[in-house]
Amino acid sequence: MSGDPRPRRPKPTLEPPTGTPPPTVREEPGLPFLLDFLPRQDEKETRLARFYARLKEGRLSTTRCPRDGLLSWPPRTVCPKCHAGELDWVDLPVTGRLYAFSAVLGGAPLGMEDQVPFAVGMVDLDGVALRLFGRIVGRPWNELSVGDAVGVETYTEPDGRAFYRFRAGRGP
Ligand SMILES: [Zn+2]
Repeated sequence: MSGDPRPRRPKPTLEPPTGTPPPTVREEPGLPFLLDFLPRQDEKETRLARFYARLKEGRLSTTRCPRDGLLSWPPRTVCPKCHAGELDWVDLPVTGRLYAFSAVLGGAPLGMEDQVPFAVGMVDLDGVALRLFGRIVGRPWNELSVGDAVGVETYTEPDGRAFYRFRAGRGP
């Protein structure tokens, strides 16, 4: 046998590419955009700014279609059933039950490394057919049980962005 039937690629070079400026990375509010776990929240960034404005008022809410009554999660700008574009905002129940949960023991999203270990889970809100994903706080992950009662809680990050999480009660 002589020669290699497969064509060889040129060896990669360590020289930086010339003529192309490095991509601009958006610095605010602190993390590179694609690695930022929390969504951008103001009107320039999202058509769901109202959802976050209501979170800042301590209200977890979503959209309901005035035509067919469809309650959506996550909130929508257009009804996924009838395509209506004007949706009502409604507050969601503030209690629910833990449907399932897991623990983040490593590999936390950037900026959350110091919070490991923490629990995340799916919560069935009381009185509506919605199952929400979120952080579970209030009790260590290894003391949680499926079916535990949890409360909805809103909070504000140091950079001013608001989000929601679920708080488990003290013990079963
Ligand atoms: Zn609709």
